[in-house]
Amino acid sequence: DFITVKDFADKLGKPVNEVIKALIFSGVMAGINQEIDFETAAKAAAKLSVSIKKSKEESLGIEEDEAEDLEDMNLVKRPPIVTVMGHVDHGKTSLLDAIRKAKVTESEAGGITQHIGAYTITLNGEKITFLDTPGHEAFTAMRARGAQITDIVILVVAADDGIMPQTEEAINHCKAANVPIVVAINKIDKPGANIEKVKQELTEYGLVSEEWGGDTICVPVSAKAKIGIDDLLEMVLLTAEMKELKADSNRRATGTVIESKLDKGRGPLATLLVQKGTLNVGDSILVGSTYGRIRAMFDDKQKKIKSAGPSIPVEVLGLSDVPVAGDKFHEVKDEKTARGMAEARKIKERSQLQSSVRVSLEDLYSQVKEGKIQELPIIIKADVQGSIEALKGSLEKLSTDEIKVRVIHNGVGAITETDISLATASNAIVIGFNVRPDNNAAALAEKEKVDVKTYRIIYNAVDDIRAAMIGMLMPDI
Ligand code: GDP
Repeated sequence: DFITVKDFADKLGKPVNEVIKALIFSGVMAGINQEIDFETAAKAAAKLSVSIKKSKEESLGIEEDEAEDLEDMNLVKRPPIVTVMGHVDHGKTSLLDAIRKAKVTESEAGGITQHIGAYTITLNGEKITFLDTPGHEAFTAMRARGAQITDIVILVVAADDGIMPQTEEAINHCKAANVPIVVAINKIDKPGANIEKVKQELTEYGLVSEEWGGDTICVPVSAKAKIGIDDLLEMVLLTAEMKELKADSNRRATGTVIESKLDKGRGPLATLLVQKGTLNVGDSILVGSTYGRIRAMFDDKQKKIKSAGPSIPVEVLGLSDVPVAGDKFHEVKDEKTARGMAEARKIKERSQLQSSVRVSLEDLYSQVKEGKIQELPIIIKADVQGSIEALKGSLEKLSTDEIKVRVIHNGVGAITETDISLATASNAIVIGFNVRPDNNAAALAEKEKVDVKTYRIIYNAVDDIRAAMIGMLMPDI
């Protein structure tokens, strides 16, 4: 499962220094002869706009999975999984809200204020599952982790604005992932709306609407005035029909983590999207290096449920730790097996982290010697993935020509010893957002004089880092 950086560069057909740069950008300091694992390689490849595939499933017993796939005898129709993409302000969020409101009955509406990262609606007896994080960041992040869960993309284009840079990006992402697009031409209630102009612009990207003899479905809608929502959903179902989406619901469950967080009272919470099989309360699962036995399960309306089949998102309780969004989960025989496999993965992760730390010292030293750019490396730990993304975005935006702010590592959960050793090696500041260092980490941080800062408000964190940057620019006296 490991490959040296040099071999990896050869495989990609890219210069080694470019690959090393991509690795650094994804938070891994690696030398030319260092071995990296698939996940690390995939991340770096994504930075180079290449997507890579594993030649065979990783060890640890999950390979049975593929053999099982051949035995997926009882394939039955499953609901499509849909992501909404498009340029900022074109109405992605409004559309997701309009769909949710239009299709959820009064009696269910109570719990639905709480988003779990995905929701399922029913139209004419057919289900559709929507991923609740609009935009292509989540889509790309998932793909970078090797998880492609979207079957269909609804591309929102505002009729008064037309195709904009992020629309184009979204189209490219869909093409790269080979995911069909249904175009929602939004804001048709506005006086400046020009549906034909949008269709014209779309043709420049190879998306020729049906009325014009192409095969791209375009549906005029208004998320605000609630026009065309049902038409749009019918077209999504039609597209799904053509894709003949199927899954076996009679096997051990597998799927992907959509969202995760640490709930103060209930412990680690994760939204899982089941992709194959059926997940039941009491099942044992392995998720990355986390495991657990499902104590309770809730649907997207916060209703307690006992089982969930393919394409259904559920929030689960009972994991040992907060899993990473984008990670796959696998149902395994029992909790003991799950724990053993999780431990094995943890050990592997730890040894990799140590070897990358060792290399980083040398690499950083040479970087400092040759480079003029100053860097402010940061490690972020937080209670939920969403805060990490928000904080990372705001901090990295502080970068100037003179100082680059770089988040070299991030994760959900308390600040641990490994975070501190990474910070020591990379001279990084550790930021905890709604989380604190555990006892060992606090002791190590004091010994190694690592700067650990904890915050509850993003603005305060940003303000402090900005101040630190000004400090870095001051001449030493
Ligand atoms: P996002 O950034 O793509 O998620 O866009 P939002 O859903 O936040 O919408 C951006 C703005 O456009 C908001 O002020 C919405 O109220 C407005 N908006 C969204 N859909 C419509 C629509 O169909 N008609 C009109 N007139 N305004 C809309």
